[in-house]
Amino acid sequence: MRAMIFETPGAPLRSVDWPVPSPGPEQLLIRVQVCGVCRTDLHLVDGELPNPKIPLVPGHQIVGTVAAVGQAVERFAVGDRVGVPWLGWTCGRCRYCRSGRENLCDAARFTGYQIDGGYAEYTAADQRFCFPLPAGYADLQAAPLLCAGLIGYRCLKLAGEGEDLGLYGFGAAAHIVAQVARHQGRRVYAFTSPGDAAAQDFARSLGAVWAGDSSQAPPRPLDAAIIFAPVGGLVPAALRAVAKGGVVVCGGIHMSDIPAFPYEILWGERVLRSVANLTRLDAEEFLALAPTIPVRTTVRSFPLEAANLALETLRAGDLHGAAALLVGAES
Ligand SMILES: [Zn+2]
Ligand SMILES: [Zn+2]
Repeated sequence: MRAMIFETPGAPLRSVDWPVPSPGPEQLLIRVQVCGVCRTDLHLVDGELPNPKIPLVPGHQIVGTVAAVGQAVERFAVGDRVGVPWLGWTCGRCRYCRSGRENLCDAARFTGYQIDGGYAEYTAADQRFCFPLPAGYADLQAAPLLCAGLIGYRCLKLAGEGEDLGLYGFGAAAHIVAQVARHQGRRVYAFTSPGDAAAQDFARSLGAVWAGDSSQAPPRPLDAAIIFAPVGGLVPAALRAVAKGGVVVCGGIHMSDIPAFPYEILWGERVLRSVANLTRLDAEEFLALAPTIPVRTTVRSFPLEAANLALETLRAGDLHGAAALLVGAES
């Protein structure tokens, strides 16, 4: 099969002829149709995530068709359309797994990080961590639901119920979360890189009541803010933007160092927290919710062989919404 392979941190992915995986007893062999491109893939390629599998097929927003099933598989059959997210396996036994927090599992393995992912024509995935996808979404439009959507949704839940919500970094996750938040009756304030008028217009088109530079203060104090951009300097900015009792959620897997800040901006029962990964319950909830809103995803597609171009386009911020690789002929 054709695959894009990660071997050396800091070097581009390499296009190779690679063996088709053979599914284990609990695994599906999936013919990949589309694989979303995520900021996490960029952190991986840049060597910012510790201990990846090497060599590795990246990609953790996989939309595909079941081509074969392992002998213990009972949730899916050949021909089914499935989605594969970032959470690829958990132990089911540790203190986190036993308390509804499998996203924190000590032994968790992640798709496109410790498990080969979807930047290839085929992938193998554990059926217990695969999901049916809502029928109303074409493969390309479904792909960003699987990470930008799922982890964005978890961030939104952990941001609390406040009405005035700031989103720092208006990329793939924010363009989905803005639609969910607006549907819930919240007001969305979008913060972009200074001067990025196109991203601010895009945010307004998705219902943001205000859009501006991340260096600006919002027109009113926020109840919560979610930081999707991997920029530590946004943490004090967001703490300054939230009212007393407000919550600041860091949604990314990696962030540059957070600068020192005065205690005064955390005081007043402001909360600063991260969100790590997702649980299967998050996936079930969000994939049921998205089509009822309905969430519409804006996705720019690239051929599989152009994975490096897709990643550099994401790095440059030259995208509105999400990016995804078109892998299968049906897409
Ligand atoms: Zn566990
Ligand atoms: Zn992701």
